[in-house]
Amino acid sequence: MKVIYLLKYGELMLKHKNKRFFEDLVIKNCNSVLREHKVKKLKLFGRFLLEAEVEDDVEKDAIAHKLSTRVFGISSVSPGTVAGLDYKNISEECIRQAGIITRTENIKTFKIDVKRPFKNVEMNSLEFASELGGDVLDAFPELKVKLVGPDMTIYVEILQEFSIVYSKKYNCLRGLPVGSSGKAGLLLSGGIDSPVAGYLAQKRGCYLNCIYFHSPPHTSQKAKDKVFELARKLLNYQTHIRIFTVDFTETQLMFKKHTDPQYFVVLGRRMMMRIVNEIARKYEFKALVTGENLGQVSSQTLENLHAINSIAELPVIRPLICFDKEETIEIARRIGTFDISTLPYDDCCTLFLPPNPNTRSKIINLEKEEAKLDYMQIVHRAVESMQITDL
Ligand code: ATP
Ligand code: MG
Repeated sequence: MKVIYLLKYGELMLKHKNKRFFEDLVIKNCNSVLREHKVKKLKLFGRFLLEAEVEDDVEKDAIAHKLSTRVFGISSVSPGTVAGLDYKNISEECIRQAGIITRTENIKTFKIDVKRPFKNVEMNSLEFASELGGDVLDAFPELKVKLVGPDMTIYVEILQEFSIVYSKKYNCLRGLPVGSSGKAGLLLSGGIDSPVAGYLAQKRGCYLNCIYFHSPPHTSQKAKDKVFELARKLLNYQTHIRIFTVDFTETQLMFKKHTDPQYFVVLGRRMMMRIVNEIARKYEFKALVTGENLGQVSSQTLENLHAINSIAELPVIRPLICFDKEETIEIARRIGTFDISTLPYDDCCTLFLPPNPNTRSKIINLEKEEAKLDYMQIVHRAVESMQITDL
């Protein structure tokens, strides 16, 4: 059967000049999440219509579910039926949909909501709605009209060449379409925070590449698999994902051997930033994304964040900076990363962790430690030997 999905975009409406660019990205991203379905694209004034040939109601709902949970840049999706511009057609379709709903749900009250963006029919929206409401009452005399908070609303949108009738509206993720802000490098660890940070950056239009630091043989293959599983979850929202896996063992062993242990974590983070700077230049990232949070661990005091940030050559987006852990966990559960993140495999940063890390590292002291080593050579070697995986 043929179903029409009416998509509405929220914030995109504001982007007058670049609207076309944003719309094209939404369409591309919709097509990507619906690649297993037969979908044809139509496009209209202030709304998108997607036409799909579906097997049954299960597939009809599956498409609505995918659009509402995996595409940024749209505010709602409604599966509906096409009716002509003829009043009789529209009325019959309202009665048919009211019949389906009243058979399956306990409905006592209803209203009809009419929109006619092109003003191409004679009656105004309220008159149109009350006529249609009268027809539905004739067909189902046990129902009552209730304009505020009814059990059932039937929506009618009268467009230029046809109208659409629908009764379900799924809220979507909103935000901006992935890709509209450009490419960003997500520092992805196996923890709870960085995948959530990546998801939130995608919500603001970032197309992500991931950078993962591991320390074989001190970190296991399972730890790496876990990070790849997390990246796969982020793949729900963009067409492809590239992962750069960087060997951090040499860096950690050198710093462990030659530098003051109280600075170990912050020195390590500064090295990560140096390596990421190189990758970012080569692969043209416009920003970096981390799961850093103010005050959560010793490396995340304002002083230490400053010491790490001062190495970065690009803006660092930290979507979780002011979140409580519970707020992050709630999103992690919703996007399906929590259960993966909490698998008990070691991260390179927890290796060699000193007992008393400095929480207020001064840049001058960090530079003194770094001066003991030829760290740029280590940076180049790490970049040369990194692995690139495309999911
Ligand atoms: P997460 O839960 O994301 O690991 P966290 O609260 O444990 O974060 P840290 O371990 O201090 O905090 O890491 C802060 C940020 O640094 C991470 O969110 C991530 O963006 C980056 N990071 C840490 N370890 C790695 C790693 N091994 N590979 C890539 N990025 C990392
Ligand atoms: Mg961590």
